[in-house]
Amino acid sequence: MNRDNNIPKNIDEKQQGTSLNFKKEKKNTKKVFIESYGCQMNMNDSEIVASILLKQGYNTTDNIDEADLVLINTCSIREKAEKTVRNRLKHFNKLKKDKPQTKIGLMGCMAERLKEKILEEEKLVDLVVGPDAYRDLPNLINELEDGRKAVNVLLSKEETYADIEPVRLNSNGVSAFVSITRGCDNMCTFCVVPFTRGRERSRNPESIMEEIRDLQNKGFKEVTLLGQNVDSYLWYGGGLKKDFDKQPEEVKNKAVDFAQLLDMAATEFPSIRIRFSTSNPQDFSLEVIKTMAKHPNIAKHIHLPVQSGSDRILQLMNRKHTVEEYKTKIDAIRKYIPDVAISQDMIAGFSTETEEDHQATLDLMDYVQYDFGFMFAYSVRPGTLGAKKLEDDVPQEVKLRRLREIIDKQQEHSLYRMQQFIGKEVEVLIEGNSKKSDKHWMGRNSQNAVVIFEKTGTETPGDLVRVKIDDCTSATLFGKRI
Ligand code: SAM
Repeated sequence: MNRDNNIPKNIDEKQQGTSLNFKKEKKNTKKVFIESYGCQMNMNDSEIVASILLKQGYNTTDNIDEADLVLINTCSIREKAEKTVRNRLKHFNKLKKDKPQTKIGLMGCMAERLKEKILEEEKLVDLVVGPDAYRDLPNLINELEDGRKAVNVLLSKEETYADIEPVRLNSNGVSAFVSITRGCDNMCTFCVVPFTRGRERSRNPESIMEEIRDLQNKGFKEVTLLGQNVDSYLWYGGGLKKDFDKQPEEVKNKAVDFAQLLDMAATEFPSIRIRFSTSNPQDFSLEVIKTMAKHPNIAKHIHLPVQSGSDRILQLMNRKHTVEEYKTKIDAIRKYIPDVAISQDMIAGFSTETEEDHQATLDLMDYVQYDFGFMFAYSVRPGTLGAKKLEDDVPQEVKLRRLREIIDKQQEHSLYRMQQFIGKEVEVLIEGNSKKSDKHWMGRNSQNAVVIFEKTGTETPGDLVRVKIDDCTSATLFGKRI
């Protein structure tokens, strides 16, 4: 029996805490169990790590009992994410007692934030490896095999893992992530990412095209270009984004920005549906909007986190735009791409947030009427400017009440947006069986809405089919294949 099935996981997001299991090499004798928490970048990083370890003699397994190495890819974005990992580690005590030779490693943002300290706090951890140090895993594993604990949390100026072909873990064979930037330079005062993932750097566009080509050859039909702030993508031959201004004119003139990258990908792969995430309003350009409008294979969905509808709070958060500027971008998006879906991230109860600031957030939501969103109560993160300079003075119950109001409003808007599809035909990329019934397919339309429809016996995952929508909830569309 797989003991892992008995371990409680107190998180419910679809991908959180999934173990990853895919490609095997016959000659490999060792097994690694990789469990991932957090954002899509973390999921993609686990695939990169699986690829590095595959060459080191490790196949992935989803049975923790048979693993020689257990890796937890961690998230630090909110306190709860770190608590989840701490709770999870408690359950490994028994595993370590029964099989002391199993090595346990922490990778990702929490590893980077806590560094060696985690070895003192969590005695069962043998290995700590930050997001820019995965190439060093073979050396770190050698140290483990020699009986030492191993740590590498160096951040890099260049690392993009461009040449590593990720092993597609738990893949549906239809949709895959492709990282295009790493790190973040924005220094939003609430956010730990610049400290855990380092400064921003972009990946060579040729290696991105190569990865998409390879995915296409393997039968994938959709890619999501990933970065903390994809709109800030800028390739000028390698190196940090912040050093771009120091480059000679001839280098600057040949640089590739995000709109150009998107155009290259959409032109070269007309039968691949292209998504991207996450956009930042300060960098989201009219050129990107025009590129989206020009290519039917770029999905009509923009995730454009705003965090707050109050100018005062946006300034305190070090978000470099006003509410008016954000609204102007929303208007431009809707003008060029009328049937676009727009989604948000919001933070309730940031430092000093008043009822008026909160009301401004609700008002902005009414203005945009987002299709969906990800909403959070503010969680102070150690090391950020928010933690150092601002008081976390909104009581927890007020944060949670405001969060509830934001979620309720979003649900109203989500339902409204979904109702607009009723009676219409949409194009659906089939991803697999519906969770509730294997007589139904689950797929997504261009706007990223989940669509469920009855199988007719003539379609398979990866097919693009037309479905007429006849019903919906605030999160799902239902219809019949035409
Ligand atoms: N790079 C994107 C941006 O800045 O818009 C998203 C980064 S983050 C991985 C995803 C979301 O987590 C953020 O958009 C924000 O809403 C939320 N978040 C980040 N730090 C937070 C914190 N300290 N407390 C609560 N939510 C937070």
